[in-house]
Order: sequence, then structure tokens, then C-alpha cells
Amino acid sequence: MAIQEHWECPYCNKSCTLGDRDIRFIQATTWMAEDIGYLKGNYKIYICPNQKCRQLSIKGNIWESDRDNNTGKRIYEWQLVPEANAKPFPELIPQQLRSDYHESCLIKDKSPKASATLSRRCLQGIIRDFWGISRKTLFEEIAELEDKVDATTWNAIDSVRKVGNIGAHMESDVNLIIDVEPDEASLLIWLIETLFEEWYIERFNREQKMQRISAIAQKKKDELEAKKNENSGSS
Ligand SMILES: [Zn+2]
Repeated sequence: MAIQEHWECPYCNKSCTLGDRDIRFIQATTWMAEDIGYLKGNYKIYICPNQKCRQLSIKGNIWESDRDNNTGKRIYEWQLVPEANAKPFPELIPQQLRSDYHESCLIKDKSPKASATLSRRCLQGIIRDFWGISRKTLFEEIAELEDKVDATTWNAIDSVRKVGNIGAHMESDVNLIIDVEPDEASLLIWLIETLFEEWYIERFNREQKMQRISAIAQKKKDELEAKKNENSGSS
């Protein structure tokens, strides 16, 4: 049976459907583990079909099995290569922010506490760099942000602030280390990805579009001038 799997490349972020040529399975034998039942492990190697990317990703899986098939539940999945599920962001986002984000993704599962600490510092860095807001605490900075950004985005930031431990400590110094659950660390990472996209990348795309519009308008103006000159020359 032909393989078909929907997949998003962790390097170029392209969503695609992968076929036989892009995925390889390295299958371990099924074995019977007493009290647990049949287990099966595999490595999955993905090659990005995007010609500009062609990067290699590797995932490891352990499945409950019914001896012959992987129809059971997946018990565990590891992202082996690339090491973190960090998305690549372009250089228009400051290096310091990208590196805090990347490191936060890298340690999310092993130390959600350290991950959230880095993410909060990254969030503060974003607000300071993008909006030029600088206050004593992140809480005050978020409060000042309210009348500057659209209500949906601000509500999302504020909701993260309100969730569990993150919320309880957002008002404190960003360097303070607090207890955090992996889910909370993921929520902060997701927020940072959203802000990179909605603020930095959107602004860049918008500027590009505006420049294109100006260029087209200038071209039209030039053409009109040329026509006018042509007409006055022939009369
Ligand atoms: Zn790719």
C-alpha cells in the first residue's frame, strides 16, 4: 500500500503530503512484552519534498501492536533530527530573540521550567524591541501594550498571562525561576511563534507590498509623463 502522510517540514515550515519517495521506515521486530502486549518500534526518516529545502528529519516511535500491524496506539514519539521542534525564523527577527526561542524549544520537555524562563525573557525582548515599551516588569509592559495592538492578539497574550503558574509570575521579574508544567511551556512557545509571525513577518510583508504599490504607481506616472511628452512633441 502506498504511503501518504500529511506533514509539516520543521526546517522550511511547508505543509505537504508525503509519499513513498519521501518517507522511509526502519522497522524493529514486534515483540511480546509480558503484561504489556505486543510492542513495535520504528524510525521514520523524512526527506522534505521542497526542492529548495531537501532536509532530513528523523522520528522514533514505539507502538502498541497486534503482532503484524501498527494499528495500535502510539505510546511514545521522539523528534530525533532536528533536535528541537523549533521553527526556523528569518533574520529580520533579531538574533537574540531567535536564539532564546530556539533554546526554549530545545529544553521544553527536559526542563519546562528553564524553557518558560527563556520564553518569558524572549516575550519581553519582543515587546521591548518591536514596540519600544520598557517598564520594570513584564506585567506592566503587557498592560501598556493593550492600546497598541489589536484586541485578539492582546487577549491571547493576556490569556497566557492568566494561565496557571505563568500567569501568577508574569508580573514578577523575568529572571525569576518558577515551577512550570510542560503544557504551559508549550503555550509560551506557541505565543512567541505567533508574535514572530503576526508582528515581525507581517510588518515585513506589508512593507514589501507597500513598496511594490509605490513602485507600480511610479511606473504608471512615468508612463503617463512619457505619453504626454510624446503627444506635445507630435502636435
Ligand atoms: Zn523543508
